[in-house]
Amino acid sequence: MRIEWPLIYKWNIEMAVYTCNDMVHDCRARRPEGWRHFIAEYLPFCRAVILHYLPERGDDPNSLPALMAIFSRSGCTVFEVSGIATEREFLLGLRDMVIEQFAPRVQNRPAPEPALLTGVPALERQIGWLEAMGYDEHASARMLNLDHKTVAAVRAKLNAALQGAGLSCIVLPAAGPGCASARTLADYSDGRLVWQTRQKVERHLCECWRCVDLFCRLRESDFLMSRRQPLKPAEVENIYEAMDIKPPPAGFWRKVFSAGWS
Ligand SMILES: [Zn+2]
Repeated sequence: MRIEWPLIYKWNIEMAVYTCNDMVHDCRARRPEGWRHFIAEYLPFCRAVILHYLPERGDDPNSLPALMAIFSRSGCTVFEVSGIATEREFLLGLRDMVIEQFAPRVQNRPAPEPALLTGVPALERQIGWLEAMGYDEHASARMLNLDHKTVAAVRAKLNAALQGAGLSCIVLPAAGPGCASARTLADYSDGRLVWQTRQKVERHLCECWRCVDLFCRLRESDFLMSRRQPLKPAEVENIYEAMDIKPPPAGFWRKVFSAGWS
């Protein structure tokens, strides 16, 4: 019995280094391997976004094909990123585009920040904002790595201060000179910032709802990616057919056993 290790090694390397950025590049170049990866990894994320913001469309068999028709259009902004985009930056763009297609109401916020919220700490703002985004205390607790009882207590305090007004009325300002990029907030979220920068970001999060919103959307994207469910084989086949994409080559282990063992 013999196995061709160099072949396995080659496949492993190919599988390991295919990044989100490679996928974006391949999709833009209309290569099927890019679309197959997108359909397997990121279309389930799109469905998780739909299920949260517009649950009645979650089981609609036309939702995902309709999205794919938009994504596969030449010049689709999700794939037109300049430079190297991280997966989180890609997910943010994807999430916003899905919401724009299915639930544009989420981005309409008609009033300024209530004065009662002045001085509210950054973490409490995040808890309040996730509530405004429609997450229950358990989901918010998971996104912010907190105990759900803490989340519930902060929510009660904020709601008492707001006297039932809710945070969803706040107008999000445009990015200002002190605002953080998605990458900086992702590093803040992962604890990768040096102390001084971390302090600066934390102070800014106490006064800028635009950055609180961006931070919460980053945490939301991580959360929805971790909870996404794979598409059913029939759903994938329908999308392949609509996009004229051939199914992927035979599975990895089938290749190994058919080519390597003797
Ligand atoms: Zn800001």
